[in-house]
Amino acid sequence: MKTACLVTFGCQMNVHDSQRMEELLRADGFELVPEPEGADVIVLNTCSVREKAEQKLRSEVGRLKRLDALVIVTGCVAQQEGERLLDRMPYIDAVIGPDNLHELPGVVRELEGGAPSMVRATFDTEAPRFLVNEATPGGVASSAYVTTMKGCDERCSFCIVPYTRGPERYRSADDIVSEVARLVAAGAREVVLLGQTVNSYRDPAVPMPEGSDPDDSQFASLLRRIVGEAKGLLRLRYTSPHPRHLTPDLLRAHAELETLAEHVHLPVQSGSDRVLKRMIRRYTRDEYVRRADALRSARKGLVLSTDIIVGFPGETAEDFDATLSLVREVGFVGLFGFKYSPRPYTPALKLRDDVPEQEKQQRLEALFELSEAQLRAHLATLVGTRARVLVEGPSKVGAATWAGRTERNEIVHFEAAPGVGPGAFATVEVTRANKHSLEGRVESVAVPAAEKPRSAIRRVALPLVEA
Ligand code: SF4
Repeated sequence: MKTACLVTFGCQMNVHDSQRMEELLRADGFELVPEPEGADVIVLNTCSVREKAEQKLRSEVGRLKRLDALVIVTGCVAQQEGERLLDRMPYIDAVIGPDNLHELPGVVRELEGGAPSMVRATFDTEAPRFLVNEATPGGVASSAYVTTMKGCDERCSFCIVPYTRGPERYRSADDIVSEVARLVAAGAREVVLLGQTVNSYRDPAVPMPEGSDPDDSQFASLLRRIVGEAKGLLRLRYTSPHPRHLTPDLLRAHAELETLAEHVHLPVQSGSDRVLKRMIRRYTRDEYVRRADALRSARKGLVLSTDIIVGFPGETAEDFDATLSLVREVGFVGLFGFKYSPRPYTPALKLRDDVPEQEKQQRLEALFELSEAQLRAHLATLVGTRARVLVEGPSKVGAATWAGRTERNEIVHFEAAPGVGPGAFATVEVTRANKHSLEGRVESVAVPAAEKPRSAIRRVALPLVEA
Protein backbone atom coordinates (compact mmCIF):
# COMPACT_ATOMS: atom_id res chain seq x y z
CA MET A 1 0.00 0.00 0.00
CA LYS A 2 1.23 3.53 -0.80
CA THR A 3 1.90 5.71 2.21
CA ALA A 4 1.55 9.43 2.92
CA CYS A 5 2.65 11.65 5.79
CA LEU A 6 1.00 14.98 6.62
CA VAL A 7 2.95 17.53 8.65
CA THR A 8 0.84 20.39 9.98
CA PHE A 9 2.08 23.84 10.97
CA GLY A 10 -0.03 26.57 12.55
CA CYS A 11 -3.61 27.06 13.57
CA GLN A 12 -6.78 24.96 14.06
CA MET A 13 -7.85 25.82 10.52
CA ASN A 14 -4.74 24.04 9.24
CA VAL A 15 -5.37 21.06 11.54
CA HIS A 16 -8.89 20.84 10.10
CA ASP A 17 -7.56 21.08 6.52
CA SER A 18 -4.99 18.36 7.25
CA GLN A 19 -7.69 16.07 8.64
CA ARG A 20 -9.71 16.52 5.46
CA MET A 21 -6.61 15.91 3.24
CA GLU A 22 -5.96 12.77 5.27
CA GLU A 23 -9.48 11.55 4.39
CA LEU A 24 -8.97 12.40 0.69
CA LEU A 25 -5.71 10.46 0.57
CA ARG A 26 -7.20 7.47 2.43
CA ALA A 27 -10.08 7.38 -0.08
CA ASP A 28 -7.44 7.30 -2.82
CA GLY A 29 -5.78 4.18 -1.37
CA PHE A 30 -3.08 5.73 0.85
CA GLU A 31 -2.15 4.60 4.33
CA LEU A 32 -1.32 7.57 6.55
CA VAL A 33 1.94 7.30 8.51
CA PRO A 34 3.14 9.58 11.32
CA GLU A 35 6.75 10.11 10.14
CA PRO A 36 7.99 11.29 6.70
CA GLU A 37 10.83 8.74 6.53
CA GLY A 38 9.70 5.96 4.18
CA ALA A 39 6.50 7.73 3.03
CA ASP A 40 5.73 7.90 -0.70
CA VAL A 41 4.07 11.30 -0.41
CA ILE A 42 4.88 14.03 2.12
CA VAL A 43 2.46 16.94 2.52
CA LEU A 44 3.63 20.00 4.45
CA ASN A 45 0.57 22.05 5.40
CA THR A 46 2.06 25.45 6.10
CA CYS A 47 1.44 28.62 8.09
CA SER A 48 2.81 32.09 7.29
CA VAL A 49 1.25 34.05 10.14
CA ARG A 50 4.61 34.35 11.94
CA GLU A 51 8.08 34.45 10.48
CA LYS A 52 9.08 31.58 12.78
CA ALA A 53 6.53 29.20 11.23
CA GLU A 54 7.92 29.95 7.79
CA GLN A 55 11.47 29.30 9.00
CA LYS A 56 10.30 25.94 10.34
CA LEU A 57 8.95 25.07 6.89
CA ARG A 58 12.29 25.88 5.27
CA SER A 59 14.19 23.67 7.71
CA GLU A 60 11.64 20.84 7.34
CA VAL A 61 11.83 20.97 3.52
CA GLY A 62 15.64 21.00 3.67
CA ARG A 63 15.55 17.89 5.84
CA LEU A 64 13.18 16.10 3.45
CA LYS A 65 14.99 16.69 0.16
CA ARG A 66 17.18 13.61 0.71
CA LEU A 67 14.10 11.36 0.90
CA ASP A 68 12.75 9.55 -2.15
CA ALA A 69 9.21 10.94 -1.89
CA LEU A 70 6.87 13.39 -3.58
CA VAL A 71 6.99 16.60 -1.55
CA ILE A 72 3.87 18.78 -1.69
CA VAL A 73 3.53 22.13 0.08
CA THR A 74 -0.02 23.25 0.91
CA GLY A 75 -1.60 26.03 2.98
CA CYS A 76 -0.75 29.69 3.51
CA VAL A 77 2.92 29.70 2.43
CA ALA A 78 1.87 27.83 -0.72
CA GLN A 79 -0.68 30.57 -1.49
CA GLN A 80 1.70 33.38 -0.57
CA GLU A 81 4.72 32.15 -2.54
CA GLY A 82 3.22 30.01 -5.36
CA GLU A 83 5.68 29.56 -8.25
CA ARG A 84 8.49 31.25 -6.25
CA LEU A 85 8.59 28.26 -3.88
CA LEU A 86 9.39 25.94 -6.79
CA ASP A 87 12.12 28.32 -7.98
CA ARG A 88 13.70 28.48 -4.54
CA MET A 89 13.27 24.80 -3.62
CA PRO A 90 13.29 22.74 -6.82
CA TYR A 91 12.83 19.47 -4.90
CA ILE A 92 9.23 20.50 -4.10
CA ASP A 93 6.90 18.69 -6.52
CA ALA A 94 3.70 20.67 -6.06
CA VAL A 95 2.35 23.78 -4.35
CA ILE A 96 -1.36 23.83 -3.44
CA GLY A 97 -3.18 26.81 -1.88
CA PRO A 98 -5.93 26.50 0.79
CA ASP A 99 -8.77 26.75 -1.76
CA ASN A 100 -7.34 23.98 -3.96
CA LEU A 101 -6.82 21.25 -1.37
CA HIS A 102 -9.57 19.08 -2.89
CA GLU A 103 -7.24 18.73 -5.92
CA LEU A 104 -4.59 16.92 -3.84
CA PRO A 105 -5.38 13.32 -4.94
CA GLY A 106 -5.48 14.37 -8.62
CA VAL A 107 -2.18 16.27 -8.27
CA VAL A 108 -0.54 13.19 -6.68
CA ARG A 109 -1.78 10.99 -9.53
CA GLU A 110 -0.45 13.44 -12.15
CA LEU A 111 2.96 13.58 -10.44
CA GLU A 112 3.09 9.78 -10.17
CA GLY A 113 2.38 9.67 -13.92
CA GLY A 114 5.48 11.81 -14.57
CA ALA A 115 3.95 15.32 -14.74
CA PRO A 116 6.36 18.21 -14.00
CA SER A 117 6.11 20.18 -10.77
CA MET A 118 2.97 22.33 -10.57
CA VAL A 119 1.18 25.12 -8.70
CA ARG A 120 -2.55 25.16 -7.87
CA ALA A 121 -3.34 28.31 -5.91
CA THR A 122 -6.50 30.08 -7.08
CA PHE A 123 -9.12 31.56 -4.73
CA ASP A 124 -12.62 30.14 -5.32
CA THR A 125 -14.36 33.48 -4.79
CA GLU A 126 -17.18 32.79 -7.28
CA ALA A 127 -18.16 29.32 -6.06
CA PRO A 128 -16.53 28.64 -2.67
CA ARG A 129 -15.90 25.01 -1.73
CA PHE A 130 -15.53 23.75 1.82
CA LEU A 131 -13.83 20.55 2.91
CA VAL A 132 -16.29 18.48 4.90
CA ASN A 133 -15.71 15.77 7.55
CA GLU A 134 -16.39 12.27 6.28
CA ALA A 135 -18.21 11.52 9.57
CA THR A 136 -17.83 7.76 9.27
CA PRO A 137 -19.92 6.17 12.08
CA GLY A 138 -17.59 5.30 14.96
CA GLY A 139 -14.66 6.87 13.06
CA VAL A 140 -14.70 10.44 14.29
CA ALA A 141 -12.80 12.07 17.13
CA SER A 142 -14.81 13.00 20.24
CA SER A 143 -14.10 16.65 19.48
CA ALA A 144 -14.46 17.62 15.82
CA TYR A 145 -13.73 20.80 13.88
CA VAL A 146 -16.39 22.15 11.53
CA THR A 147 -15.65 25.05 9.22
CA THR A 148 -18.25 27.84 8.90
CA MET A 149 -16.45 30.34 6.69
CA LYS A 150 -13.09 31.05 5.14
CA GLY A 151 -11.01 34.14 4.47
CA CYS A 152 -11.07 37.45 6.32
CA ASP A 153 -12.23 40.98 5.44
CA GLU A 154 -10.68 42.72 8.45
CA ARG A 155 -7.23 43.74 7.16
CA CYS A 156 -5.51 44.12 10.55
CA SER A 157 -2.28 45.88 9.66
CA PHE A 158 0.05 43.08 10.91
CA CYS A 159 -1.79 40.11 9.43
CA ILE A 160 -1.13 38.17 6.25
CA VAL A 161 -4.27 36.01 6.44
CA PRO A 162 -6.46 38.15 4.13
CA TYR A 163 -3.75 37.71 1.48
CA THR A 164 -3.26 33.96 1.94
CA ARG A 165 -6.87 32.95 2.65
CA GLY A 166 -8.69 35.58 0.56
CA PRO A 167 -11.94 37.44 1.27
CA GLU A 168 -14.68 36.11 3.56
CA ARG A 169 -16.87 33.38 2.09
CA TYR A 170 -19.49 31.54 4.14
CA ARG A 171 -21.07 28.08 4.11
CA SER A 172 -24.82 27.84 4.26
CA ALA A 173 -26.23 27.21 7.73
CA ASP A 174 -28.06 24.16 6.32
CA ASP A 175 -24.71 22.58 5.32
CA ILE A 176 -23.07 23.40 8.65
CA VAL A 177 -25.97 22.09 10.76
CA SER A 178 -26.20 18.91 8.72
CA GLU A 179 -22.43 18.28 9.06
CA VAL A 180 -22.63 18.77 12.84
CA ALA A 181 -25.63 16.41 13.05
CA ARG A 182 -23.77 13.73 11.02
CA LEU A 183 -20.69 14.09 13.24
CA VAL A 184 -22.76 13.72 16.40
CA ALA A 185 -24.53 10.68 14.96
CA ALA A 186 -21.09 9.25 14.16
CA GLY A 187 -19.88 9.67 17.75
CA ALA A 188 -18.58 13.25 18.15
CA ARG A 189 -19.45 14.75 21.57
CA GLU A 190 -18.07 18.24 21.05
CA VAL A 191 -17.86 20.45 17.97
CA VAL A 192 -15.56 23.43 17.51
CA LEU A 193 -16.80 25.86 14.85
CA LEU A 194 -13.96 27.39 12.88
CA GLY A 195 -13.63 30.69 11.07
CA GLN A 196 -10.98 33.40 10.83
CA THR A 197 -13.54 35.80 12.36
CA VAL A 198 -16.12 33.15 13.11
CA ASN A 199 -18.69 35.49 14.65
CA SER A 200 -18.91 37.63 11.50
CA TYR A 201 -20.72 34.64 9.94
CA ARG A 202 -23.55 35.40 7.51
CA ASP A 203 -25.71 32.73 5.96
CA PRO A 204 -25.41 33.09 2.16
CA ALA A 205 -28.93 31.64 1.84
CA VAL A 206 -30.61 34.14 4.22
CA PRO A 207 -30.24 37.87 3.46
CA MET A 208 -29.41 40.18 6.35
CA PRO A 209 -32.29 42.51 7.30
CA GLU A 210 -32.35 45.84 5.45
CA GLY A 211 -30.22 48.52 7.13
CA SER A 212 -28.24 46.06 9.31
CA ASP A 213 -25.20 47.37 11.12
CA PRO A 214 -21.94 46.23 9.40
CA ASP A 215 -20.93 44.52 12.70
CA ASP A 216 -24.15 42.46 12.81
CA SER A 217 -23.96 38.81 11.89
CA GLN A 218 -26.06 35.64 11.83
CA PHE A 219 -23.66 33.70 14.04
CA ALA A 220 -25.99 33.58 17.05
CA SER A 221 -28.78 32.15 14.86
CA LEU A 222 -26.35 29.52 13.60
CA LEU A 223 -25.48 28.53 17.18
CA ARG A 224 -29.18 28.26 18.08
CA ARG A 225 -29.90 26.09 15.04
CA ILE A 226 -26.98 23.75 15.80
CA VAL A 227 -28.02 23.29 19.42
CA GLY A 228 -31.67 22.82 18.42
CA GLU A 229 -31.08 20.38 15.57
CA ALA A 230 -27.93 18.40 16.39
CA LYS A 231 -29.48 16.31 19.17
CA GLY A 232 -26.87 14.63 21.32
CA LEU A 233 -24.23 17.37 20.94
CA LEU A 234 -22.79 17.80 24.43
CA ARG A 235 -20.57 20.84 23.97
CA LEU A 236 -20.18 23.58 21.38
CA ARG A 237 -17.15 25.86 21.06
CA TYR A 238 -16.07 28.37 18.44
CA THR A 239 -12.81 30.03 17.45
CA SER A 240 -11.84 32.75 16.85
CA PRO A 241 -14.33 35.55 17.35
CA HIS A 242 -13.51 39.18 16.60
CA PRO A 243 -14.47 41.57 19.44
CA ARG A 244 -16.20 43.84 16.87
CA HIS A 245 -18.83 41.17 16.17
CA LEU A 246 -19.65 40.32 19.78
CA THR A 247 -23.24 41.41 19.20
CA PRO A 248 -26.08 41.60 21.77
CA ASP A 249 -27.62 38.59 20.00
CA LEU A 250 -24.45 36.55 20.55
CA LEU A 251 -24.45 37.57 24.23
CA ARG A 252 -28.06 36.34 24.49
CA ALA A 253 -27.04 33.04 22.88
CA HIS A 254 -24.40 32.59 25.61
CA ALA A 255 -27.06 33.23 28.25
CA GLU A 256 -29.56 30.81 26.67
CA LEU A 257 -27.53 27.90 25.30
CA GLU A 258 -26.25 25.52 28.00
CA THR A 259 -24.32 23.60 25.33
CA LEU A 260 -22.06 26.58 24.62
CA ALA A 261 -18.79 26.19 26.51
CA GLU A 262 -17.94 28.54 29.34
CA HIS A 263 -14.77 29.69 27.60
CA VAL A 264 -14.21 32.16 24.78
CA HIS A 265 -10.87 32.91 23.16
CA LEU A 266 -11.26 36.61 22.35
CA PRO A 267 -8.10 38.05 20.71
CA VAL A 268 -7.27 41.58 21.87
CA GLN A 269 -3.67 42.02 20.55
CA SER A 270 -2.88 45.14 22.66
CA GLY A 271 -4.17 47.13 25.63
CA SER A 272 -3.12 50.50 24.21
CA ASP A 273 -5.59 52.51 22.11
CA ARG A 274 -2.69 54.05 20.17
CA VAL A 275 -1.39 50.60 19.19
CA LEU A 276 -4.88 49.17 18.52
CA LYS A 277 -5.42 52.03 16.06
CA ARG A 278 -2.12 51.33 14.29
CA MET A 279 -3.06 47.65 14.18
CA ILE A 280 -6.43 48.62 12.56
CA ARG A 281 -8.32 46.48 15.10
CA ARG A 282 -11.39 48.78 14.96
CA TYR A 283 -12.16 48.79 18.68
CA THR A 284 -10.80 50.68 21.66
CA ARG A 285 -9.55 49.17 24.89
CA ASP A 286 -12.67 50.40 26.64
CA GLU A 287 -14.97 48.80 24.03
CA TYR A 288 -13.11 45.51 24.39
CA VAL A 289 -13.38 45.57 28.20
CA ARG A 290 -17.11 46.36 28.05
CA ARG A 291 -17.75 43.50 25.64
CA ALA A 292 -15.67 41.07 27.71
CA ASP A 293 -17.64 42.11 30.83
CA ALA A 294 -20.95 41.70 29.00
CA LEU A 295 -19.94 38.20 27.91
CA ARG A 296 -19.11 37.21 31.47
CA SER A 297 -22.33 38.72 32.76
CA ALA A 298 -24.29 36.75 30.16
CA ARG A 299 -22.87 33.45 31.38
CA LYS A 300 -21.81 32.95 34.97
CA GLY A 301 -18.40 31.28 35.29
CA LEU A 302 -17.30 32.03 31.72
CA VAL A 303 -13.54 32.59 31.35
CA LEU A 304 -11.58 34.36 28.65
CA SER A 305 -8.26 33.79 26.94
CA THR A 306 -6.63 35.96 24.30
CA ASP A 307 -3.83 36.66 21.79
CA ILE A 308 -1.35 39.49 22.28
CA ILE A 309 1.40 40.84 20.04
CA VAL A 310 4.29 42.60 21.76
CA GLY A 311 6.76 44.98 20.11
CA PHE A 312 4.39 46.18 17.38
CA PRO A 313 6.00 49.13 15.49
CA GLY A 314 5.92 52.21 17.70
CA GLU A 315 4.89 50.33 20.88
CA THR A 316 6.36 52.31 23.79
CA ALA A 317 6.99 51.11 27.35
CA GLU A 318 3.76 52.96 28.32
CA ASP A 319 1.81 51.15 25.60
CA PHE A 320 3.13 47.83 26.84
CA ASP A 321 2.21 48.74 30.44
CA ALA A 322 -1.31 49.42 29.18
CA THR A 323 -1.35 45.87 27.76
CA LEU A 324 -0.26 44.41 31.10
CA SER A 325 -2.92 46.42 32.91
CA LEU A 326 -5.57 45.18 30.45
CA VAL A 327 -4.50 41.57 31.08
CA ARG A 328 -5.00 42.21 34.82
CA GLU A 329 -8.27 44.08 34.36
CA VAL A 330 -9.89 41.42 32.16
CA GLY A 331 -8.34 38.59 34.18
CA PHE A 332 -7.46 36.35 31.21
CA VAL A 333 -6.78 32.75 32.25
CA GLY A 334 -4.88 31.88 29.07
CA LEU A 335 -2.86 33.78 26.56
CA PHE A 336 -0.93 33.24 23.34
CA GLY A 337 1.78 35.89 23.16
CA PHE A 338 3.91 36.67 20.11
CA LYS A 339 6.70 39.02 19.19
CA TYR A 340 5.77 41.17 16.20
CA SER A 341 7.45 40.12 12.96
CA PRO A 342 6.92 41.93 9.65
CA ARG A 343 4.91 39.86 7.16
CA PRO A 344 4.89 40.31 3.38
CA TYR A 345 2.08 42.40 1.80
CA THR A 346 0.81 43.70 5.17
CA PRO A 347 0.10 47.43 5.77
CA ALA A 348 2.35 47.40 8.88
CA LEU A 349 5.37 47.03 6.58
CA LYS A 350 5.11 50.80 6.08
CA LEU A 351 5.74 51.27 9.81
CA ARG A 352 9.28 51.00 11.14
CA ASP A 353 9.89 47.75 13.07
CA ASP A 354 11.56 49.88 15.74
CA VAL A 355 11.27 47.88 18.98
CA PRO A 356 14.64 46.13 19.52
CA GLU A 357 14.53 42.32 19.57
CA GLN A 358 15.81 42.20 23.15
CA GLU A 359 13.03 44.57 24.26
CA LYS A 360 10.41 42.43 22.46
CA GLN A 361 11.76 39.36 24.27
CA GLN A 362 11.63 41.09 27.67
CA ARG A 363 8.05 42.25 27.07
CA LEU A 364 7.02 38.76 26.01
CA GLU A 365 8.56 37.27 29.16
CA ALA A 366 6.82 39.85 31.37
CA LEU A 367 3.53 39.08 29.64
CA PHE A 368 3.93 35.33 30.15
CA GLU A 369 4.91 35.80 33.79
CA LEU A 370 1.70 37.75 34.45
CA SER A 371 -0.49 35.33 32.51
CA GLU A 372 1.01 32.29 34.29
CA ALA A 373 0.38 33.92 37.67
CA GLN A 374 -3.26 34.60 36.69
CA LEU A 375 -3.72 31.03 35.48
CA ARG A 376 -2.26 29.62 38.71
CA ALA A 377 -4.53 31.83 40.83
CA HIS A 378 -7.57 30.82 38.77
CA LEU A 379 -6.79 27.09 38.98
CA ALA A 380 -6.34 27.34 42.77
CA THR A 381 -9.92 28.65 43.11
CA LEU A 382 -11.27 25.46 41.52
CA VAL A 383 -10.01 22.98 44.13
CA GLY A 384 -13.02 21.37 45.80
CA THR A 385 -15.40 22.23 42.94
CA ARG A 386 -16.94 19.86 40.38
CA ALA A 387 -16.47 20.07 36.62
CA ARG A 388 -17.97 18.32 33.62
CA VAL A 389 -15.04 16.87 31.70
CA LEU A 390 -14.84 15.55 28.14
CA VAL A 391 -12.14 12.87 28.22
CA GLU A 392 -9.62 13.41 25.43
CA GLY A 393 -6.95 10.73 25.90
CA PRO A 394 -4.19 9.29 28.09
CA SER A 395 -2.62 11.56 30.71
CA LYS A 396 1.11 12.21 30.92
CA VAL A 397 1.00 13.52 34.51
CA GLY A 398 2.00 11.43 37.55
CA ALA A 399 -0.18 8.43 38.33
CA ALA A 400 -3.17 9.78 36.38
CA THR A 401 -4.53 7.64 33.56
CA TRP A 402 -6.75 10.01 31.60
CA ALA A 403 -6.90 13.69 30.75
CA GLY A 404 -9.76 15.83 29.52
CA ARG A 405 -11.08 19.35 29.36
CA THR A 406 -13.69 21.17 31.42
CA GLU A 407 -16.36 23.53 30.03
CA ARG A 408 -13.87 26.33 30.69
CA ASN A 409 -11.09 24.54 28.79
CA GLU A 410 -8.99 23.69 31.86
CA ILE A 411 -7.07 20.42 31.50
CA VAL A 412 -7.87 17.86 34.22
CA HIS A 413 -5.95 14.64 34.96
CA PHE A 414 -7.56 11.74 36.81
CA GLU A 415 -7.33 8.01 37.44
CA ALA A 416 -9.19 5.32 35.53
CA ALA A 417 -12.84 4.60 36.40
CA PRO A 418 -15.47 2.35 34.84
CA GLY A 419 -16.77 3.79 31.53
CA VAL A 420 -14.00 6.41 31.35
CA GLY A 421 -11.97 6.69 28.14
CA PRO A 422 -11.73 9.00 25.11
CA GLY A 423 -15.14 10.53 24.43
CA ALA A 424 -16.57 9.92 27.91
CA PHE A 425 -18.34 12.80 29.64
CA ALA A 426 -17.66 12.64 33.37
CA THR A 427 -18.23 14.72 36.49
CA VAL A 428 -14.89 15.19 38.21
CA GLU A 429 -14.19 16.60 41.66
CA VAL A 430 -11.11 18.83 41.48
CA THR A 431 -8.65 17.75 44.17
CA ARG A 432 -5.50 19.65 43.28
CA ALA A 433 -4.27 22.58 41.17
CA ASN A 434 -0.95 22.28 39.31
CA LYS A 435 0.88 25.05 37.43
CA HIS A 436 -1.08 24.62 34.20
CA SER A 437 -3.68 21.96 34.92
CA LEU A 438 -5.91 20.33 37.52
CA GLU A 439 -6.10 16.89 39.09
CA GLY A 440 -9.35 15.26 40.10
CA ARG A 441 -11.42 12.23 40.99
CA VAL A 442 -14.19 10.86 38.78
CA GLU A 443 -17.55 11.03 40.60
CA SER A 444 -19.88 9.86 37.87
CA VAL A 445 -19.94 9.18 34.15
CA ALA A 446 -22.85 10.71 32.22
CA VAL A 447 -21.78 9.37 28.81
CA PRO A 448 -19.34 6.45 28.50
CA ALA A 449 -16.22 6.29 26.32
CA ALA A 450 -16.41 6.14 22.52
CA GLU A 451 -14.05 4.51 20.06
CA LYS A 452 -11.61 7.08 18.71
CA PRO A 453 -9.23 6.41 15.81
CA ARG A 454 -5.60 7.52 15.98
CA SER A 455 -4.81 10.40 13.69
CA ALA A 456 -1.61 10.20 11.64
CA ILE A 457 -1.36 13.99 11.54
CA ARG A 458 1.97 15.25 12.82
CA ARG A 459 1.79 18.71 14.33
CA VAL A 460 4.82 20.97 14.27
CA ALA A 461 3.73 24.23 15.85
CA LEU A 462 1.56 25.34 18.73
CA PRO A 463 -1.86 26.79 17.90
CA LEU A 464 -1.70 30.27 16.48
CA VAL A 465 -5.16 31.62 16.92
CA GLU A 466 -6.00 34.56 14.71
CA ALA A 467 -8.75 37.16 14.71
S1 SF4 B 1 -5.76 39.09 12.75
FE1 SF4 B 1 -7.66 37.91 12.45
S2 SF4 B 1 -9.20 39.49 12.03
FE2 SF4 B 1 -7.22 40.49 11.71
S3 SF4 B 1 -6.81 40.23 9.50
FE3 SF4 B 1 -5.84 38.49 10.57
S4 SF4 B 1 -7.35 36.85 10.49
FE4 SF4 B 1 -8.43 38.77 10.02
